[in-house]
Amino acid sequence: MVSIAAEHASAVDRDARFPHEAFGAARAAHLLGMQIPVEFGGEGAGLGEVVDLCYMLGRVCASSAMIFSMHQIMVAILVRHARSSPWHQDFMRRIAKEQLLIASSTTENQTGGDVRASACCVDSDGRRMTLDKNATVMSYGAEADALMTTARRAPEAAPSDQVLVALMKADYSLEPVNSWNVMGMRGTCSTGFALRASGASDQVLPQPYEKIHTQSMMPVAHLTWGATWTGIAAGAVARARMFVRNAARHSNGQLPPGTAHLTQAVMTLRTLRGQLSSALQRFESAGLSGEILESLDFQTAFNLLKVSSSEMAIDTVLSALRATGLSGYRDDGEFSIARNLRDVLSSSIMINNDRILANATQAAMLVDIPAFLQD
Ligand SMILES: Cc1cc2nc3c(=O)[nH]c(=O)nc-3n(C[C@H](O)[C@H](O)[C@H](O)COP(=O)(O)OP(=O)(O)OC[C@H]3O[C@@H](n4cnc5c(N)ncnc54)[C@H](O)[C@@H]3O)c2cc1C
Repeated sequence: MVSIAAEHASAVDRDARFPHEAFGAARAAHLLGMQIPVEFGGEGAGLGEVVDLCYMLGRVCASSAMIFSMHQIMVAILVRHARSSPWHQDFMRRIAKEQLLIASSTTENQTGGDVRASACCVDSDGRRMTLDKNATVMSYGAEADALMTTARRAPEAAPSDQVLVALMKADYSLEPVNSWNVMGMRGTCSTGFALRASGASDQVLPQPYEKIHTQSMMPVAHLTWGATWTGIAAGAVARARMFVRNAARHSNGQLPPGTAHLTQAVMTLRTLRGQLSSALQRFESAGLSGEILESLDFQTAFNLLKVSSSEMAIDTVLSALRATGLSGYRDDGEFSIARNLRDVLSSSIMINNDRILANATQAAMLVDIPAFLQD
């Protein structure tokens, strides 16, 4: 999948089109069901393997990496929170067997990037339900075989009293309401849609979204997004390194003036990778312990992981650009950093860092930094 994603990355970006070739390869390699337990026909892979793939894809095609990440977040949620529900067990079997691609819809006209509030609601008579949503941003919505969406539990429920609903393509219609002509991440095709859905009431995941969000959606998203952005940064550093080596070869070993920026880029990339790998270890060792996952310290750490990994990835790509100068600034040529920069700039607005920082302020005042590293 990675080499095929690399081959088509420029065309995907240029035409702002879905990376069909990369996802054809992902299906052929059974990667869309990699996290589904073996008992349901999947590969039973852990999140570490998903994170590694997001990183490798991010190096070559950020849009493929982000689509892969968003799909795998939904699968992780099903595996961790819906294993006992017959409807969702069947859904997992179908994802593994038919290699279904799942989109996710949280953003809404009325609530914007506030994932923990919904305007739309599930209207259920206990057997059947309907749901209409003004989904203003939904990546690869038109290409997906199914989607999972947040909604209020019922018409009278408060905005934060949310559930997550799984919908098969036959259950919904999508009417485009806007286009996706943006600076970067162009292949995610994150168009806006008027979503109209109906299905069985069993399609609502059995656990409240509040629990799903804190225990899985937020940490898994921040790990896989972080890996994608780290991959983008690593791709830029690789080009900067190639540029410096090439320049030195052509001037009797004399290093170009921007070389120190390469060192700076390598330094932030190393920090970024270290931060991600320790967060992954922490998440894996927490298992399914609600007590650990919902603790204020864990939540603060994983929310801030998103802010710091996005900012560090942007800094790394900017340092790589400074190391390469005009060759990196060009939109073409083997040292171009242009696509990496355009793609990575989406990281700070994908759930806006300002929003996360504002929400984390209270926790930052309450949670003490451990006195020793090993705490
Ligand atoms: C590449 C990409 C793919 C995406 N794919 C999907 C998808 O598949 N499904 C989906 O549902 N959504 C998707 N989104 C949308 C994403 O989840 C967020 O909803 C979106 O990025 C938030 O956009 P926003 O900045 O306009 O909105 P908001 O987060 O509402 O922010 C609007 C403005 O208000 C400011 N602001 C907001 N809250 C605060 C606060 N508390 N304090 C200070 N300032 C604040 C922000 O700085 C920003 O300037 C995607 C986004 C991107 C970039």
